[in-house]
Amino acid sequence: MLNPAFQFKLQHTCKHTKARAGELDTPHGKVQTPRFMPVGTLANVKTVTPAQLSDCDAQMVLANTYHLHIQPGEDLVAEAGGLHKFMHWSGPILTDSGGFQVFSLSQIRSISDHGVVFQSPRDGKVIELTPEKSIEIQNQLGADVIMAFDECAPYPASYEAVAAASDRTTRWLERCLRAHARSDQALFGIVQGGVFLDLRRKSAQELVAFDLPGYAIGGVSVGEPPELIAKIVAAATPWLPEHKPRYLMGVGTYREMAQSVAAGIDLFDCVIPTRLARHGAALVAGDRWNLKNARFKRDFAPIDEDCPCYTCTNFSRAYLNHLLKSQEILGYTLISIHNITELIRFTKRMRAAILADRFVDQFSEFLSDGSQA
Ligand SMILES: [Zn+2]
Repeated sequence: MLNPAFQFKLQHTCKHTKARAGELDTPHGKVQTPRFMPVGTLANVKTVTPAQLSDCDAQMVLANTYHLHIQPGEDLVAEAGGLHKFMHWSGPILTDSGGFQVFSLSQIRSISDHGVVFQSPRDGKVIELTPEKSIEIQNQLGADVIMAFDECAPYPASYEAVAAASDRTTRWLERCLRAHARSDQALFGIVQGGVFLDLRRKSAQELVAFDLPGYAIGGVSVGEPPELIAKIVAAATPWLPEHKPRYLMGVGTYREMAQSVAAGIDLFDCVIPTRLARHGAALVAGDRWNLKNARFKRDFAPIDEDCPCYTCTNFSRAYLNHLLKSQEILGYTLISIHNITELIRFTKRMRAAILADRFVDQFSEFLSDGSQA
């Protein structure tokens, strides 16, 4: 029996698209949707403190089962009092199951119905992850939302290979549910099926039979052309229940988020804001600026005059250019703060527009199939 603190309220649906505004309640607070969630892979959002993250108006943050299992290990996190206490984040947390990372980062020894055996990229140690083990780790970490262990097929892959991975993901979901031992954590299933729309539909239909508290669309942003993301999402969402939250994994660019919101997605996560920051790139109104560029050397304006973030309120492009040139960590922190705020604001603007019945008017430039943004 799931803790009654978990509730998803649908507040308003767009008249012209499937976009919706909602509210996900968790034992650690509310997430207003649509919402971008920053990624804290190793129980930290790179170079940003939890207080700064709060100032960015982050509501739910991610952490990663695969990485935390390898270092420092779930036993240590549990001993520290769980993930919220360990990383000093009192808001909602979601942990990924490790499925995506096993298939994208590690050297796989074997995949069978039982699970996956792989070599740790850290020390070469042989590790086995099974649906039961992934859930056991996530139960120990203690996030509010946990994810089913899935097989994420690479791109490109044959129809047969993707169908097999997708079927296995459904079989694994059954075992994840049996292994799940905490009522204060909501277990979301992950729709697979690669770029094959009929497989996406089949996967979504099979998952819905389990009546889960939420559904994710996984296996996107793995190298397929970005215009396919909207098609994949549109193939799966009509089969997912209206009154449950929908999470598109690993997507955090303006156009893909806007098009996915139009197809009925509520939650997003992506490492893009912090990864770009480490390369000196700032997200500005649908664009990316390289702040290392010489044209910013004497530019004393903030990154974005309309942005309320700590960075834009207090620092100039020239100062950030100087920090980046000197490889000072503060530069990465300040740009991360701006980039995270920017993507959260983008999803907040979509939410406000949906509530005001102005979503299509205000986001048309992102909803068309053109080449901007
Ligand atoms: Zn800013």
